[in-house]
Amino acid sequence: MRILVTGGAGYIGSVITEELVAGGHQVIVFDNLAKGHRDAVVEDAELVQGDVLDGEALRRTLRERGIEAVVHMAADSLVGDSVTDPGRYYRTNVVGGLSLLAAMRAESVNRLVFSSTAAVYGEPLKVPIEEDDPTSPTNPYGETKLAFERALIWHERAHGLRHVSLRYFNAAGASARCGERHDPETHLIPLVLQAALGEAREVVVFGDDYPTRDGTCVRDYIHVLDLARAHVIALEALARGGAPHRVYNVGCGGEGYTVREVIDAAQRITGQAIPVRLGPRRPGDPAVLVAGSARIERELGLRPRHQDLAAIIGSSFRWMLAARRAAA
Ligand code: UDP
Repeated sequence: MRILVTGGAGYIGSVITEELVAGGHQVIVFDNLAKGHRDAVVEDAELVQGDVLDGEALRRTLRERGIEAVVHMAADSLVGDSVTDPGRYYRTNVVGGLSLLAAMRAESVNRLVFSSTAAVYGEPLKVPIEEDDPTSPTNPYGETKLAFERALIWHERAHGLRHVSLRYFNAAGASARCGERHDPETHLIPLVLQAALGEAREVVVFGDDYPTRDGTCVRDYIHVLDLARAHVIALEALARGGAPHRVYNVGCGGEGYTVREVIDAAQRITGQAIPVRLGPRRPGDPAVLVAGSARIERELGLRPRHQDLAAIIGSSFRWMLAARRAAA
């Protein structure tokens, strides 16, 4: 298949691109490089630098590259940031998404895999969260992802757009080649590892008065390689002519891990004591987000291969060490 990956120079997008190329697909990455990295795109994929708000550039790319399906990753994706700058999240995630849909329609491309998020659920009423549970986002990030999911459903009815929305839980870990590289970094696992490497003074724990086993937030960390595999499988299902639209959680399920458990695991793996300071809650953070992942296993056959938190954190740590060696 010839596949366009918007946001394919970012952390998750670069691993998806890697997996698709390894599976024999032809990949064109469309990325404005605002947060992505040119060198994160594997050699066998083509990079087109462009913004999803630029409908003309999208149309040209779809047409000239003969694109058959799209993975839409390009987004603003930070919970805290979205609370302080909601306008940017609506512009990038909703307006940008609609710009892509218009371009796809104009060029008769009608298969899409959308990177959605567990943040669409908000504070869950029960755990694990199932796909049909109520959606009530607690921050603009989740709100804008949900708005676009809903836009997809109307586009399917009106124009026959076939799509899968993948609601990611917490992507973590690294492939041998691609890992998490944000500036500034806000995600827990890379921050904890930076502290272990002595690059940060301490880790600030955002609240320890949540109704969880140790008072810190519980998240469901899924290895980025498993997450990438979910996209490949979803694209293949759409190509086979499966259901016209479907929503799937992508997480490991189980009990999830608290912030303190992540820090403890990182201390064991790195052999370093990690200084911790307690800070206030981060606005918009639900206490617990853990996936019910039965649907994607039953319907698409996806079962995570790398569920162990220590293995996930270990892959990030190895990648960070290699990246620092290469830069030295
Ligand atoms: N977190 C934290 N300190 C940090 C960064 C994150 O305590 O410096 C917590 C955050 O409140 C959340 C969890 O770690 O409960 C995972 O946060 P992250 O930003 O990695 O992912 P998110 O859940 O926002 O997608």
